[in-house]
Amino acid sequence: MSAGAISPSILDVSNLTVRIDGQLLLSDVSLSVARGTLHAIVGPNGAGKSTLVYAVLGQIPFEGRILAHWRRNGRIGYVPQSFSVDRTLPVTVEDFLALTRQNRPVCFGVGRAAARRIAAMLDRVGLAGFEQRQLSVLSGGELRRVLLAHALDPLPELLILDEPATGLDQTASQWLEDVLLAARDRDDVTVLMVSHDHERVKRHGDRVTVLDRCVVADGAPADALA
Ligand code: ADP
Ligand code: MG
Repeated sequence: MSAGAISPSILDVSNLTVRIDGQLLLSDVSLSVARGTLHAIVGPNGAGKSTLVYAVLGQIPFEGRILAHWRRNGRIGYVPQSFSVDRTLPVTVEDFLALTRQNRPVCFGVGRAAARRIAAMLDRVGLAGFEQRQLSVLSGGELRRVLLAHALDPLPELLILDEPATGLDQTASQWLEDVLLAARDRDDVTVLMVSHDHERVKRHGDRVTVLDRCVVADGAPADALA
């Protein structure tokens, strides 16, 4: 990805094709993500949704062009579809978040400023008081929230989430929705989200791309998901 000229879009994907071991995972995919929007990617299992995300993140080779147009910090926040923690890894939620939020090594303790910042980050994602929990004991949904807290601080220009609602109950899904809408509407974060929840996407999404190795539909949620 590279910086571009002033553009209403934050991300332009053009003619993206991904082949791995001779298998065609994505074929000629083009889409634009408009700045300040919530853009959903939907599609069946194996459609190439995560592959698209990996290409955007620069993690796999591809043909075609992916251009980002940054205006602020050029930061991408990313919450992966799955993230497993070694059960024997002795690290607390606070230590994990402090690793990239203070200059002194975390093995010498978490400083007061970092601790305050981490408390605010956890509060934002509904995990107030989770500082001293071991990362390894968190449920999948809680772990994803910790990763979301990490992704939202410092505020990114583009937040990419890969099926963030998986494993969340009704309350947690509502909470997730509130956090994402606040990021978009209050903090001017563009949200690109892989989702299976068509109803929520119709309610709050600005645009949807339906993917099944190629782009099947792209447009306003009510139209694209019809
Ligand atoms: P989705 O996220 O839409 O469920 P993925 O992007 O994870 O789908 O995967 C798309 C297809 O590519 C799947 O059929 C998957 O098995 C295959 N795939 C993913 N990664 C690899 C890889 N490294 N090598 C070969 N095939 C892969
Ligand atoms: Mg996936």
